[in-house]
Amino acid sequence: MDQWRTSARAPESLSPWRAVADRVWVCTAEPATVNLGLVVGSTGALLVDTGSSPEQGRQLRASIASVTDVALQAVVVTHAHDDHAFGLGAFPDVPTLAHESVAGRLECADARASAAELGLIPGDLRAPSRGLAVAASVDLGDRRVEIAHLGAGHTEGDLLVIVPDADLIFVGDLLESAGPPWFGPDSVPHEWAATLDGVIGLMTAGTRAVPGHGEPVDREFVFDARGRVAAVSGELTRLVDTGVAETDALAAGEWPYPEEHIAGGIAPGYAALAGRGVKGIRPTLPLA
Ligand SMILES: [Zn+2]
Repeated sequence: MDQWRTSARAPESLSPWRAVADRVWVCTAEPATVNLGLVVGSTGALLVDTGSSPEQGRQLRASIASVTDVALQAVVVTHAHDDHAFGLGAFPDVPTLAHESVAGRLECADARASAAELGLIPGDLRAPSRGLAVAASVDLGDRRVEIAHLGAGHTEGDLLVIVPDADLIFVGDLLESAGPPWFGPDSVPHEWAATLDGVIGLMTAGTRAVPGHGEPVDREFVFDARGRVAAVSGELTRLVDTGVAETDALAAGEWPYPEEHIAGGIAPGYAALAGRGVKGIRPTLPLA
């Protein structure tokens, strides 16, 4: 989900793990109905995302024992949002990886305010132990997992977790299938479509992508999402170019998703286009 959550907190819970590929499992954590992933190799296991609190992270960690006795070797956080990253505190003894921007995001005022509203204390928010800029690989024994930042979109720090031998990719909230994706104040609307182009480039007709929320999707789904996300960027550009004020943009625009999913992305979408000016109005030259 997405913007920093501001509503009162629903109870936390974890679903049982369900297999989505050979030795790849997904469980769903409430209150955000977020997908958490587990990839198991012969010598180690890798967890994708950590849940909404250290306590949920600890429960998640305990639940891993229900599907494997292989030790947890690494944790990857797909982006800095609370439902994905606030469980990091449960893994002080395991290497935790995220995009290099995530540590800073977890220290920002928005994240701390969100944590406070969720009943967490500042010490509950732990930064990942390692930030990566582009890519990394984790050897789990008889299989390898690749971690990649193909660009920004839902946030500036979206990571993919690629399981090549399972033809499966965890994509975080770059994609959502339980509902429309969320454009938030920390989204990068004009880069999102290009990042999804990169995701599509990694997929064959048989590849499945596990979104941050909802059931796994295929390449056709990503094509569709890519078009809609590009349409949001295009509409933001049209509004700026025709002189529509930022405060009027949400109502004036034609959007491929419900307005509440777009609203948070208007500000970063406008900010990225600052200085373009209004097209169609010829600048006047000073008289000599
Ligand atoms: Zn998110």
